[in-house]
Amino acid sequence: MQLKIKDTFTKGLPADLILENSRRQVKKACFSYVTPKKTRKPEMLHTSSEMISALGLSEEDATSKAFLNVFTGNEVLHNTKPYAMCYGGHQFGNWAGQLGDGRAINLAEVEHNNKHWAIQLKGAGETPYSRTGDGLAVLRSSVREYLCSEAMYHLGVPTTRALSLALSGDEVLRDMLYDGNAAYEKGAIVTRVSPSFLRFGSYQIFAVRQDNETLKNLVDFTIKEYFRDLGKPSKETYLQFFEAVLNSTIAMLVHWQRVGFVHGVMNTDNMSILGQTIDYGPYGWLEGYDHNWTPNTTDKQFKRYRFGAQIDMGLWNLYQLANTLYPLIGEAEGLEHTLNSYNEKAQAQHLGMMQSKLGLYQDEKSDAQLINSLEDTLQLTETDMTIFFRNLSDFSIEDPLKGLEIVKDAFYELNEISDTIEHKWNSWFERYATRLQKEDTTSKERKENMNQVNPKYVLRNYMAQLAIDDADKGDYKLIDELFNLLKKPYDTQPEHEKWYAKRPEWARDKVGCSMLSCSS
Ligand code: AMP
Ligand code: MG
Repeated sequence: MQLKIKDTFTKGLPADLILENSRRQVKKACFSYVTPKKTRKPEMLHTSSEMISALGLSEEDATSKAFLNVFTGNEVLHNTKPYAMCYGGHQFGNWAGQLGDGRAINLAEVEHNNKHWAIQLKGAGETPYSRTGDGLAVLRSSVREYLCSEAMYHLGVPTTRALSLALSGDEVLRDMLYDGNAAYEKGAIVTRVSPSFLRFGSYQIFAVRQDNETLKNLVDFTIKEYFRDLGKPSKETYLQFFEAVLNSTIAMLVHWQRVGFVHGVMNTDNMSILGQTIDYGPYGWLEGYDHNWTPNTTDKQFKRYRFGAQIDMGLWNLYQLANTLYPLIGEAEGLEHTLNSYNEKAQAQHLGMMQSKLGLYQDEKSDAQLINSLEDTLQLTETDMTIFFRNLSDFSIEDPLKGLEIVKDAFYELNEISDTIEHKWNSWFERYATRLQKEDTTSKERKENMNQVNPKYVLRNYMAQLAIDDADKGDYKLIDELFNLLKKPYDTQPEHEKWYAKRPEWARDKVGCSMLSCSS
């Protein structure tokens, strides 16, 4: 197994001088060297053929003993020194101090086909940043991260990727519901891949500690490695860097709203500096279209990270990043100016995204109202987001009153559609038909276009749970089936029609299918 190692992070940034793997505050360093934990009986459950070739590996490599050992932490690649990254973060609005890679261990960075990748194990043992945790991950959360990150990629949403999913062969103790009933679960390790795992919190920790030297070091490194077009670091480029992060954050969040993804834990330590979806924890997919929904039980009370608040939370997080960069720039004006552009940019992109979901390409002033009214109507009764938008591509301008029939499968309780609600739907469909008359696309073109932004298949929460339940019993076929299904989320796949369906009733309140905790 031959990887072209090209370490930039450990070469370009200050290391923790203490080599002992003990939990502690790590100062004036961006990372700590640490060796992954040996596991009792590693077993590879699934690999991503796309990521295998993206890293310059072959399918043969992927079935080798070396691959199994390296990507479960049992063997360290020649000429590499694994490390855990130091970062802090605001959790649910409060500064939480040092967090860091408590259970992620970076193996190395590699280069292939002019692309640069950092490779990271999640669940490979303790690090100086493990705080009260054990550094491990359980099978259920690993299946969820593995399947979802690849699914998001194929939906066109910026995300970290996944190379492999393995069992460690060790048991991990978890109190899944935080109710005092801890139980042993199977331990697992996901290998994640991204150009960089740097987060907003990676920078925040140094600003909070008033360590401007390391802060500057890290920002300059980031610009040099990932924002090369900005040129030599200066106050001007720091501002441009901030603007680029703001732009990519908005783009990512608008994609989340498009596909109905709710991250669940948008803390600043989970915000990628590259605008990628990162750290798949208690995330979920909207089934009933509901702005107030969050899958995260920890956030049940205030719903800070609910579906309808994700874009606002992006801005909150960017304020923290702006505060972090302020010491390097010395004046607030430019940062404020960029922050002030956020709402307008996000609204415009959100509107454009919603127009595309409806097949509207001429920019009409009344579109925002039409969309608001749709969002209100969608929330009158439980209406499946994915099925609604997908079926809507069959809407006929000539026959607006057939609209309700076309989207019927999206309603969870047909008998909840009272006469008043039916009337509201019909009047919305009539407005939609009138609006569509201003378009010059044929209905066939409109359908094709709409089907490229409205996925047919997403990783519904219960689907992941079914794959987890089987995997727990040693059956991994469903992981493979869902993995392949979700590679083509916009295609009709007749053999997979059963996955184009509303969440079954048994899954409504089942743990893992509706609500999730952080106990991963
Ligand atoms: P998360 O909510 O998964 O983004 O994690 C927040 C922080 O907790 C990060 O610093 C993680 O590394 C750390 N963490 C989460 N789970 C564990 C664990 N099992 N062991 C050690 N650290 C953990
Ligand atoms: Mg995290």
